[in-house]
Amino acid sequence: MRARGVGLLEPVAGRRARWLFTDRRGGVSTGDYASLNLADHVGDDPQAVSANRGSAASWLGLAAGQVAVMRAAHGAESAFVTGGGVVADVDILVTDRPDVALLALAADCVPMAMADPVAGVVAAVHSGWRGVAAGTARAAVAAMVAAGAHTSRITASLGAAICARCYEVSDAVLAQVTAAAPAAAAVTRTGTPAVDIRAGISEQLRGEGVSDIRVDPACTYEAPTELFSYRRDHTTGRQGVLVALQVGHG
Ligand SMILES: [Zn+2]
Repeated sequence: MRARGVGLLEPVAGRRARWLFTDRRGGVSTGDYASLNLADHVGDDPQAVSANRGSAASWLGLAAGQVAVMRAAHGAESAFVTGGGVVADVDILVTDRPDVALLALAADCVPMAMADPVAGVVAAVHSGWRGVAAGTARAAVAAMVAAGAHTSRITASLGAAICARCYEVSDAVLAQVTAAAPAAAAVTRTGTPAVDIRAGISEQLRGEGVSDIRVDPACTYEAPTELFSYRRDHTTGRQGVLVALQVGHG
């Protein structure tokens, strides 16, 4: 596989937070899911998904069994996890345990890695427009703080997502989103109402005191050879982000 984007924070010797953003390249899935599909709920061959997750986990020096993956529900619920496995109905996974990889999946929504490596707390987050309306990013900060993080030390890294120019929404959706995050208001390239998911998330993070916000500006919808897009292809795979805290690796 190939890494789309990576992050490393190592403010304390021997304790670091690492994250890996994937795209659709470099995996073993075929057809609509070609090739690095990380989702097992979209109709792909489970063995191919497992192999793809294993490749991504190994990039972090971990095994597939050490991956905790959320089944996102487009809400603001979080779960604190201590090991690998599936966690249903949450969009935020948090841990303070080393050597557990948290996985968030997306294909137009935003996958996000968050870390306070000084406190030793990391999170993986999924947010689309519903997440912005629900305040998922704010809830993620709160869940990390509850686990010992400090907002001023949190780094948030936002992955590729559908851009505002491509993301037409109804007036009702726009109203819901902008009530929670005015900065998400946008228009498409044809001038119709749109949502800028990453702008909304960034606004909510800044409002919570998070200032180190990194954004992959790529648009999933516009990059068919690089990125999965649900709105473009409907039957398709998911890219994502894996984040892990690692202790004692020198
Ligand atoms: Zn776009």
